[in-house]
Amino acid sequence: MTSIQLENVSKIYPDGLAAVHQLDMTIDDGELRVLLGPSGCGKSTVLRMIAGLESPTSGSIQFDGRCMNDIGPRDRDIAMAFQEHALYPQMTVAENLGFPLMVGGMHATEVARRVETVARLLHIDDALERKPSRLSGGQQQRVSLGRSVIRDPRLFLMDEPLSNLDAKLRLETRTEILRLQRRLGTTTVFVTHDQAEAMAIADRISLMRDGVVAQTGTPTELYEHPRDLFVAQFLGSPQMNVLAGTIVDSGDRLSVRVGSQTIPLTGHAIEPAVATQGRDVAIGFRPEALRREHDGDLVTSVESTEALGHEQLVHASVDAPSVSVTSNGIEVVHSHASPITAVAGSHESFNLWEPFALRIETGAIHLFDLESGRALAA
Ligand code: ADP
Repeated sequence: MTSIQLENVSKIYPDGLAAVHQLDMTIDDGELRVLLGPSGCGKSTVLRMIAGLESPTSGSIQFDGRCMNDIGPRDRDIAMAFQEHALYPQMTVAENLGFPLMVGGMHATEVARRVETVARLLHIDDALERKPSRLSGGQQQRVSLGRSVIRDPRLFLMDEPLSNLDAKLRLETRTEILRLQRRLGTTTVFVTHDQAEAMAIADRISLMRDGVVAQTGTPTELYEHPRDLFVAQFLGSPQMNVLAGTIVDSGDRLSVRVGSQTIPLTGHAIEPAVATQGRDVAIGFRPEALRREHDGDLVTSVESTEALGHEQLVHASVDAPSVSVTSNGIEVVHSHASPITAVAGSHESFNLWEPFALRIETGAIHLFDLESGRALAA
């Protein structure tokens, strides 16, 4: 039972690289927190500081209110899982699982009992007498997980534990980790760069960028109410469509002019727009918020379709500038054929290169300040 608090934590590596800046973070007891973000944003550094493998340059790390800065990794009572799962090749699965307990001096009967419980929990109880070389990749990963959980540590820390697995096994193992975490209720910090993985398992996600947290919240909060363009485009696949436009008052209502077209504002998008008439904005809408309608507001041209089985992706172009977030900041690309993506039913048919009109669902428009990238709040 452990909560974690990071207060004003910074990490500057000896070569001068500032990997984490003044980070404040509270992870609740029993929570599964995912640290998400592009490669190099500081996720592993945060995890390693929680583990005690790196010390913060400044700030404090507390477990249940007790400062851990001077406590070594061995005395923090944590279990770590990495992408490499180093099992002892000469030992059986049972011996691999029981090893950390034996080393800790636990009685053999108690070790055997725990090995059996954990093996059952992870569905590897029929492989206990096998050597690692005779296990599938997924079974090996489970043994490795089992070895982390068998000590019943106060924290699980996982750094991209699934990234060496093939796609199917990744899905299976992430479900397994989630099930295990729910069952044991152990506070867990899980690092990944994969937004889908984060969305699938997190209680809350802290999405990081350049050593700071861009936003923390439940997967739904981040998906539906992104605080800025970076969060909006990082979560979701295919990513949110974002075009550059200007708020205009078209008499009876407010709209956004994008290129030669005008998109009326509906629902919660209206209020922030009132204060920003005439101002340049980024207008965002997710692919699944688009419907084909013959009198839809946004006229596009279909360039290709991609079948996904239960639905299809429609890749189209629109005569308007598009917006994306790059490592250099917000980039507006002026084009008569900016790419946008819509989701459609798998049986709908589309004629390539012909214009077709889309309607954005009511309430599904996100507005951002074009300069700062911040969401325009009501
Ligand atoms: P992530 O896990 O998000 O990919 P990291 O925390 O591993 O990011 O790294 C953050 C930044 O710190 C990167 O620029 C990385 O190159 C740098 N970094 C990581 N470890 C070290 C180290 N031991 N010494 C110097 N720089 C490091």
